[in-house]
Amino acid sequence: MLVANWNNYPRINARLWEFRTENEACKLLDSLSRCIPRGLGRSYGDCSLEKNIISTPCFKRFIALDQKQGILECEAGISLDQILKLIIPRGLFLPVTPGTRYVTLGGAIASDVHGKNHHLHGTFGRHVLSLLLLTPGGEIVDCSREKNAELFHAVCGGMGLLGLILSARIRLMPIQSAHIRQITIPAENLEHLMELFEVHRQSTYSVAWIDFLGRGRNFGRGLFMLGEHCLSGEVTCKELSRQKKSGINIPFFMPGWIMNKQGVRAFNHLYHLRGKSGTGCSFPDLDDFFYPLDKVHNWNRFYGRKGFLQYQFVLPKEQSRPGLEKIQAHVQASRLLPYLAVLKLLGPQAGPLSFPFQGYTLALDFPIKPGLSAMLSALDRLVHNLGGRIYLAKDARMSKHDFLKGYPESGRFLELKYKHDPENKMASLQSERLGLCAKTY
Ligand SMILES: Cc1cc2nc3c(=O)[nH]c(=O)nc-3n(C[C@H](O)[C@H](O)[C@H](O)COP(=O)(O)OP(=O)(O)OC[C@H]3O[C@@H](n4cnc5c(N)ncnc54)[C@H](O)[C@@H]3O)c2cc1C
Repeated sequence: MLVANWNNYPRINARLWEFRTENEACKLLDSLSRCIPRGLGRSYGDCSLEKNIISTPCFKRFIALDQKQGILECEAGISLDQILKLIIPRGLFLPVTPGTRYVTLGGAIASDVHGKNHHLHGTFGRHVLSLLLLTPGGEIVDCSREKNAELFHAVCGGMGLLGLILSARIRLMPIQSAHIRQITIPAENLEHLMELFEVHRQSTYSVAWIDFLGRGRNFGRGLFMLGEHCLSGEVTCKELSRQKKSGINIPFFMPGWIMNKQGVRAFNHLYHLRGKSGTGCSFPDLDDFFYPLDKVHNWNRFYGRKGFLQYQFVLPKEQSRPGLEKIQAHVQASRLLPYLAVLKLLGPQAGPLSFPFQGYTLALDFPIKPGLSAMLSALDRLVHNLGGRIYLAKDARMSKHDFLKGYPESGRFLELKYKHDPENKMASLQSERLGLCAKTY
């Protein structure tokens, strides 16, 4: 069948293999000479694409929940959506969550995803206590910080290349309410925005939407949003109804009619104005705050059949401001405008292929158009000359050279790849493009 991930590019012919038990998973892996695991295909690119795909969403049982300790154990094909439905009514939440609830537990670990709290709480992997890995050799290995620690750290962010994650035990966080206390502050330009990130670095959640079309002193104008979990009884019905009337919760999506240059300009302008008028405190529920895009089913289709690319990179802190200005100038000169630009502050790095490191990350969505590939290749050079790198879960086109420059610890990963997968059984289109295979070691 034709398979693509969330951005609909690339689209390939592949065979999807499902399994429902550990035993079936072992037999399946044994029968395939080359394959890659795939969860819900919410990555943007080719990291879970190969001719033979091991599809995990049928392997989705809850194994155990210790409500008092806040520890949950599940099979890896379960979605964060299923987990949230179980834990929120019990006063628990995920300590780290990406911007969609439709990813699997295995996919969240394999991409070592980050949320709006990375600067304080790190990646998803930091909250994994242990996991069971089915190695390409057919062995089931128990990995944690205490047992097989090196393998554990490399599997978190390892993009499925060290084996199939079967299950994991994760630590949850207690919450008193299903609402967030959100503060929205308009920022006049990039300098102001970065100042806000720094001043509020002790806030649990922070994220900014940027009007990427602003020029000169206006570049970086945007909306800076902070969030804290509400305390029990903090949100009253009065506050909720007042919030409905003010209608400040503008979702991050572009309607179809807006998909041209004038439309993008108008959207950015309106978003900024509405955000300004809705400045202050509001109390969105967890879905509105963390997963606004999930409300629009198949929003990826707005970009048409050709699909789109999300270009997400991180720059070291000291390079971030001049670097973002250079990148913006380059993008504006190309006339290929991003429809969405989201900025986050990141904290320290985790495993060898884990994306985040201390600095700022920007994600830009571009519809696929002639000239995009050449423009992004030039951006790759800029990003790497500034000491940055591109997120593997959002990549469909990076070169091997740029990958090696951006991920200097990949050699450590390849040593483990060679040890556990000398025949290169686990491989994706991405790993082959980037030379992430045992033979390279
Ligand atoms: C709307 C939206 C918002 C997002 N926001 C964020 C965000 O804020 N932060 C962030 O970090 N990411 C974000 N993402 C990206 C997404 O969280 C990651 O790409 C995630 O890995 C997708 O999980 P999945 O289950 O769909 O896995 P897939 O996309 O199918 O696969 C991703 C990788 O995981 C591997 N994999 C999957 N399951 C297993 C398994 N059981 N064992 C071993 N390897 C496995 C695959 O081989 C592949 O390399 C977002 C994506 C979308 C669509």
